[in-house]
Amino acid sequence: MFSKILIANRGEIALRILRACRELGIKTVAVHSTADQDAMHVRLADEAVCIGPASSRDSYLNVAAILSAATITGAEAIHPGYGFLSENADFAETVESHGLVFIGPTAQHIRMMGDKITAKTTMQALGVPLVPGSDGELASIEEARKVAAKVGYPVLIKAAAGGGGRGMKVAPTEADLEEAWNVARTEARAAFGNDAVYLEKYMDKPRHIELQILGDNYNNVVHFGERDCSLQRRHQKLLEEAGSPAISAEQRDEIGKTVTEALSKMGYRNAGTLEFLYQDGQFCFIEMNTRLQVEHPVTEMVSDVDLVREQIRIAAGEKLGYTQKDVTFSGHSIECRINAEDPNDFSPCPGTVTVYHPPGGLGVRVDSALYTGYRVPPYYDSMIAKVIVHAPTRAEAIARMQRALDEFVVEGIKTVIPLHRRILENPEFQKGDYTIHWLENFSAQLQ
Ligand code: ADP
Repeated sequence: MFSKILIANRGEIALRILRACRELGIKTVAVHSTADQDAMHVRLADEAVCIGPASSRDSYLNVAAILSAATITGAEAIHPGYGFLSENADFAETVESHGLVFIGPTAQHIRMMGDKITAKTTMQALGVPLVPGSDGELASIEEARKVAAKVGYPVLIKAAAGGGGRGMKVAPTEADLEEAWNVARTEARAAFGNDAVYLEKYMDKPRHIELQILGDNYNNVVHFGERDCSLQRRHQKLLEEAGSPAISAEQRDEIGKTVTEALSKMGYRNAGTLEFLYQDGQFCFIEMNTRLQVEHPVTEMVSDVDLVREQIRIAAGEKLGYTQKDVTFSGHSIECRINAEDPNDFSPCPGTVTVYHPPGGLGVRVDSALYTGYRVPPYYDSMIAKVIVHAPTRAEAIARMQRALDEFVVEGIKTVIPLHRRILENPEFQKGDYTIHWLENFSAQLQ
């Protein structure tokens, strides 16, 4: 086992990783920008190294500075968290070439899944069902037209290098195709320096359902069930649950078997998530994330696993030590992402937290790096906390989340807590009757 790990991240996820390290008896090194001098992850780590100015490009994305910090502190492994360098294959490679362990999959697998076209063709070859669409990259608008006519409108033009909902444009009819094609390519070129695009049928009422998996270095792969992340705004998740109100245990077993067999054949290691759109009883693969995800706690609550601890154990070369049969599920879990945003127009609201009082009690978990007096910096992601509840049934989990949010005090900045309250009391949400389009419509009605 490692004796010291560098955490190449900030905020709640840096704390989450730090906590797992503590429990494993591993020393931690925090890295931080000048804007995060007073951050909680810096205070709680055994050692901290400033790696640059506020801008992420010069600090949390500064590979040379992070590697120097690892070298001077004698860290043996680096956990990248999510975002920042977590899905950067070159970073993973550089870490390993410096004799350190990257806590995650191989650079080859990160690269493969980072290109959504390669990801789809790889998964298809391994027997995973896909969203109908083009066979890889589109060479021309004429080809796009042909494929669109075959799969039927509306269609979606997506960037191969896409992420965070960028480089994605819907064409409702053929008349809109050329514009969608141009806009998606321009956006993709600007954001990712790669204008390769592909086409998918735009599904009208899917749910976003994803499967959490873990693989060790010995081809053992297990899944930890699904998360329903359909509640999204601008393709960004806001509230997640495990399990999905739409999936039966049999369906979970079936898709789980397909996925674990595919990843075992690939020789995939560490944590990963396969994202699907689910409609009319069909799972259609859209992409794979080769890292720990923001919403991982809901899986931890229902399957009683510490995913970060598992990531570290796997990276240290340990075997999983259990099989699919040993993974069991109990109760229901919901996570609300609390963003420092105006709940009406979602504009970011950084500033000083004048009072902070997190909720507690049975079945309530808060993952956050906030404290009273903390200044939420304007430079990074606006998510400041995750409230996670666990209860025997979905109805009880909803009631517990409502009670937890009522207790939650964050003063001095605006947050999306009022929006979560409205969602939780909505009869459609309570029935579990929602798709990926539900939240956009719901928030438009609130305006
Ligand atoms: P990103 O990597 O940018 O997050 P994804 O491929 O994961 O992109 O898609 C993000 C979200 O966009 C999905 O969760 C879903 O809400 C929506 N989406 C993606 N593909 C489709 C599709 N073919 N039809 C309808 N919605 C889609």
